[in-house]
Amino acid sequence: MTAPSSGNVLVLSHADVYRLLTMPACIELMADVLRATSRGGAVLPLRSAVWMPDRTGMIGLMPGFLDAPHSLGLKVVSIFPGNHGTGYDSHQGVVMLFDTAHGTPIAILDASSITAIRTAAVSGVATRALAREQAGDLAILGAGVQAATHLAAMRAVRSIHRVRVWSRNPAHAQRFADGYSSDGSLRVEVMASARAAVDGADLICTTTAAREPILEGAWLAPGAHINAVGACFATARELDTAAVARARLIVDRRESTLAESGDFLIAKAEGAFGDDHIAGELGDILLGTLVGRERDDQITLFDSLGIAVEDLAAAHYIYTQAIAHGGGASVPLGA
Ligand code: NDP
Repeated sequence: MTAPSSGNVLVLSHADVYRLLTMPACIELMADVLRATSRGGAVLPLRSAVWMPDRTGMIGLMPGFLDAPHSLGLKVVSIFPGNHGTGYDSHQGVVMLFDTAHGTPIAILDASSITAIRTAAVSGVATRALAREQAGDLAILGAGVQAATHLAAMRAVRSIHRVRVWSRNPAHAQRFADGYSSDGSLRVEVMASARAAVDGADLICTTTAAREPILEGAWLAPGAHINAVGACFATARELDTAAVARARLIVDRRESTLAESGDFLIAKAEGAFGDDHIAGELGDILLGTLVGRERDDQITLFDSLGIAVEDLAAAHYIYTQAIAHGGGASVPLGA
């Protein structure tokens, strides 16, 4: 990508992102990104994080380069889990895009919205690749931003006929469900426990900021597919050891899983399995070099950590759409 000759930077807001990046488009985009990553087309250091001394919040840096679409940049995102329910997003920040000819900054985009959409879109890609064709009984654990975008992503890739939601705070789960029933578009059932929400479900999305397991392997129905999204640090997990051990484990990026996934690392430290429990990357399945689901009754698990090139490819797409169709504010920055 080359810089606009004016040297201006395009600033794209939360509203711009939601207008220009639809879920179906993002699902196709993320499939391309995962393919490119697994064939070696990404340069991705492990992310670095700086925590506040009281551990109430952190700021994470996620730089990267992707060869197709040619994208160079960085996501800077703060995570303040206590923000949920206060009116502030728990994930805030910016994605910065640079042109690859001269290294000129060309766009600054809202990261909350990109993170919300691209994470669920990646789970959509995983669900399309791994869930049974007829899977449609969906359980969502958590009722925040990711819960909402995951519901949209699941509806984009499977015919969803039942939706159950559980959240730690029942009022938040009820508010989530009311958001759908008020316009009559969908009935979302609020469940009193995570166990009741996943009982018999064939699609499960875990989207909480829990540090300790909220999903147990003993509760899983044969043939279920799980997208485990919420635990992004080595010290946090949403799934107990049995849940990870029972499943065919597919990851977004092997190197990240071995360094950052509490769902994987804590179960491994308990002696449940070794590194070979990771069957492979989602991109390998998309490239046709790895089989996804092996049997109808197999439990499949996609462990999502999120990688910078997902943000960069989304930003590149939004930037391109804004140049073509309008949007954002152009700001002079450099010379
Ligand atoms: P929100 O702040 O919008 O929602 C957080 C959700 O987690 C709420 O439903 C809340 O429940 C629940 N929760 C918080 N603490 C606990 C706990 N101790 N036990 C059980 N539930 C808890 O966050 P997002 O939806 O934006 O993000 C959800 C998670 O996904 C976060 O952990 C985030 O870091 C992770 N994430 C992962 C990404 C990836 O690429 N894999 C990308 C972006 C986010 P309640 O309100 O009922 O208390």
